[in-house]
Amino acid sequence: MKQTKDSRIHADLHIHTVYSADSVVQPKMLVDMLNAHSFIKVIAVTDHDSVRANKPTIELAKAYPDILIIPGCEISTVEGDMLVLGTHELPPKPWTPESVADYARSIDAISIVAHPFRSYGMGEYARKLKVNAIEVLNGGTNKEDNNKAKEFAKEIGLPGTAGSDAHQVSELFSVYNQIDAAMNVDSILAAIKKGMVSTHTQTSPCNLT
Ligand SMILES: [Zn+2]
Repeated sequence: MKQTKDSRIHADLHIHTVYSADSVVQPKMLVDMLNAHSFIKVIAVTDHDSVRANKPTIELAKAYPDILIIPGCEISTVEGDMLVLGTHELPPKPWTPESVADYARSIDAISIVAHPFRSYGMGEYARKLKVNAIEVLNGGTNKEDNNKAKEFAKEIGLPGTAGSDAHQVSELFSVYNQIDAAMNVDSILAAIKKGMVSTHTQTSPCNLT
């Protein structure tokens, strides 16, 4: 399909690879699954406190012109987890929610509060932060806590994003975002900032071609 200016991008924005100690997803498997999927063609790599998977995954994805990898990480701040999308580097320490949000802004990346009402989430603390979005649909979080996050994002006027938070291949793409953007990282991040994103659950995650 030829990509015109803006189109509908389908993206899973929270994925762990083997560079997270608790994940078994190899970059090669991730790229193969993305290539094989019928409509999800964009993912963000968000390992715990690591950006090591970004380069090898992007390298592997170069073989497939219709898939896109957003480099990122999930930072364990003192208050709870935050995603940074659009970075090849880790934020400077110490990792406070404020410093991570500032870092993201300084490099034109975006910061997202991950699963605010689950374990390792920062809950109400997110209210005072200058972040770009709240993760309102997390694949590893129960419905009630996701709904709470959705209400919270609405209340504070921030866009909501989705991410499978996959740590194994069977968990990939369980949820996804529909984003009105062109097929490149800058356009996708800008669209998320503007709230041109909606979150969805897949009834059959392994929707392969
Ligand atoms: Zn995670």
